[in-house]
Amino acid sequence: MSRNRGSPFMPENQRAEASPMTTISRMVHLVSRPDGWPAPDDFAFVDIALPSTGRGQVLVENLYLSVDPYMREQMDGGWPLNAPLEGRSIGRVLASRDARLAEGDLVFHRSGWCSHAVLGAEDASLLPEHAGISSSAYLSALGGTGLSAYVGLSKIAKLQPLETVFISAAAGGVGTMAGQIAQLLGASSVIGSAGSAEKVRRLVGKLGFTSAFNYRDGNIAAQLRAAAPAGIDVYLDNVGGEHLEAAIGSLRDRGRVAWCGAIAQYNGTIPPPAPRNLFDVVGKSLRIEGFLVRDYRHLQPELEALLVPHIRSGRIKLEETITVGFDNIVTAFIGMLRGENVGKAIVQVC
Ligand code: NAP
Repeated sequence: MSRNRGSPFMPENQRAEASPMTTISRMVHLVSRPDGWPAPDDFAFVDIALPSTGRGQVLVENLYLSVDPYMREQMDGGWPLNAPLEGRSIGRVLASRDARLAEGDLVFHRSGWCSHAVLGAEDASLLPEHAGISSSAYLSALGGTGLSAYVGLSKIAKLQPLETVFISAAAGGVGTMAGQIAQLLGASSVIGSAGSAEKVRRLVGKLGFTSAFNYRDGNIAAQLRAAAPAGIDVYLDNVGGEHLEAAIGSLRDRGRVAWCGAIAQYNGTIPPPAPRNLFDVVGKSLRIEGFLVRDYRHLQPELEALLVPHIRSGRIKLEETITVGFDNIVTAFIGMLRGENVGKAIVQVC
């Protein structure tokens, strides 16, 4: 990992020059495209002097940054090299030249992977005020993560009371929220898969899953059949590959799959061969529907109305793995891909 601030490896003439009034933003750039799993050397820390805050703009100091699986896909070509990266962030306004935002306001925006940003005020939205709820929650339960879980279950799969639901990557950000939301929606049985015995224990012991299994322990289809001998009605897929094949095998007639993600293939160089039983979709009249949470942002008030009272009461638990220190963001990102997080992976800037 390159660390450019004051680094002897950085030529004098490339270091950020700053006047006393200039804000320096510490940023991460992608400097090479990962070949399979990303490595620390694919990233570099750079210090950039921000332009002064212009009319209609705000200067924001970031407090919390989200590291997400989709970022790995962007690294294959979507994101430019040696340039600022995007990502969901919660920040505090340090200076405002727009009437819509004032100094001290907490905002959500998408200029991630940096300590500070100058943004158009229209690109920063004021966080709602829900007393007693931490601002990091707007990246987890009350952010795109919780919204993905809610949309997948309630709008895509149309989960009904007393149905059986299976959730993969169940101990992650989307998964922990999906398991808890499924219980709120009245599912009779909530089954999760995760990558360690400790995560499995937590899903059942703390988050109310009916049962869970470690997908590394053996055949996924066999473990799912053992957990749900009578079959499942709904599958929230965060993983793809063998997990999707197992779910298709266990779905009852007219079952539904809300396809949220396919993390099993993000770091691979060849797509997984599964699912090999796709034609069962016809035989069982199944429905598989993918979705992007960005198309459902209008449901944010609905999500908050559902979850805020339960977060306050403690029925919904905010599962977050918070890595402290901006300089640890690359480690946190790679760790999340490897399954080191429980709940939403978040970086606290300082
Ligand atoms: P997350 O689940 O908090 O973190 C990723 C988790 O995936 C890891 O903790 C790891 O846990 C698991 N994992 C990694 N490799 C795996 C593999 N080969 N097989 C099974 N599990 C694996 O991340 P998230 O932000 O909540 O995202 C979860 C999924 O939802 C991702 O696929 C993401 O792309 C997708 N997503 C989609 C949308 C949308 O708009 N469609 C929005 C948000 C997220 P283990 O220890 O259990 O392996």
